[in-house]
Amino acid sequence: MSIDLRSDTVTRPDQAMRKAMAEAEVGDDVYGEDPTVLRLQEMAAAAAGTEAALFVPSGTMGNQIALRLLAAPGTEVIADADCHIFHYEMSAMAAITGLMPRGVPSDDGLPSPESVERAVQPEQSYLARTGALTLENTHNMAGGRVFDHSRIDPLLEVARRLDLPVHLDGARIFNAAEALGVSVADLTAGFDTVMFCLSKGLGAPVGSMLCSTRELIVEARRVRKMLGGGMRQAGVIAAAGLVALRDGPARLAEDHNHARLLAEGLAQLPRVTLDPNEVRTNIVIFDVAPEDYGDLAPAMRLARSLSEHDVLAGAIGPETMRFVTHRDVDEAACRKALGAVAESLGH
Ligand SMILES: *Cc1c(COP(=O)(O)O)cnc(C)c1O
Repeated sequence: MSIDLRSDTVTRPDQAMRKAMAEAEVGDDVYGEDPTVLRLQEMAAAAAGTEAALFVPSGTMGNQIALRLLAAPGTEVIADADCHIFHYEMSAMAAITGLMPRGVPSDDGLPSPESVERAVQPEQSYLARTGALTLENTHNMAGGRVFDHSRIDPLLEVARRLDLPVHLDGARIFNAAEALGVSVADLTAGFDTVMFCLSKGLGAPVGSMLCSTRELIVEARRVRKMLGGGMRQAGVIAAAGLVALRDGPARLAEDHNHARLLAEGLAQLPRVTLDPNEVRTNIVIFDVAPEDYGDLAPAMRLARSLSEHDVLAGAIGPETMRFVTHRDVDEAACRKALGAVAESLGH
C-alpha cells in the first residue's frame, strides 16, 4: 500500500471501530432518538467544555452552521485571509450562508488584534456590518501552527469589546491541545461556537462536532436539517466517533513526532526550505526551489515523482508541498518517504 501523506482524512476505520459500528444501538436522530449519537454529543461537549454539541456530517457544515448562527446574512466575517473557511469550503459562506469574507493578512495564521479592530466596519449607512470573527487552531495552511492563550486572549478581548461573536474552526483542536499540553476545553474557552473534526487525526471515517451553548445547539439542529444534514440512524457512524474521541487524542503525539522527523529530514535537503522548529503538530509545509530546467512547477513535479515511489503528497502551490501525518503512517513509512523525496530531488 502506498504511503499516503496527502491528509489525515485518509485513515480507514480499524477493527475496534468497525466492531463498535456494527454493534451500535441506533434510533432516528432527527427525532433525537439515537442513543449513540446522544452519547457522542455529550462526550464532545464535555471535551470542549461547552453545554451541548451537535454531530454534523463534515467540518464544512459545522463551520457554516456556526457562522449562520452567529452572523446575520449580509454581514462580514473577519478571519485570517488564508483560513479554511474562505478557501476550502466552496464559497459556501457566500453561496449558502449569505456572508461576506473580510480577510486580514497575518504572519502565521492568526490575525493581530489591531488588524481585527481595523477590519470592523464603522456604523455607516453605506457599509456592511461586521457579523463575526473566526479563528483557526491549529492553522492548516500555516503548517499546523498552534496558538496558545497569550495569542488568543487579546483577540477575544477585542471581540468582546466590539460585541463581535467568535467562532473557532478547531478542525484539529485536539492536535493543538496535545502540542501545548493543555486540555481542549482550555483552548475553546471564550469562543461562542467551536467545530472540531472526528474524521482527521482522531481517526473516525466521517463526522465533526459543533459545540456551543444549549440554546445555540437547539438552533444549530434546525440549520443542520435545513442544509440536508439531518441524519437518521446515524449511531452507526457516531459509534466510530465515540471510539475516535476515546482513543484518538492519546496517540496524536506520535503523529507530531513523525511530522517532526519528516521536517528534520526535509530541512537537510538542499532544494528544500523549511524550519523544523515551526513544526509543532501533524502538518509539514515546505518549499521546493525550482530546478533550472523543466516545464512543470517544482512542487507538482515532486508530487508526481513521489507517486512513482508510492508516496502520495499534495502540492499546495507551485513551489509548496504539504505532508500530513496520521495513524496509518509509522516511523518506517516516514523514513521511506524521506528517501523518496531525496531521490526525487536528485540527491
Ligand atoms: C478539514 C478542515 C475543515 C473541515 O473539512 P471537512 O472536509 O468539511 O470535514 C475545516 N477547517 C479546517 C482548518 C480543516 O483543516
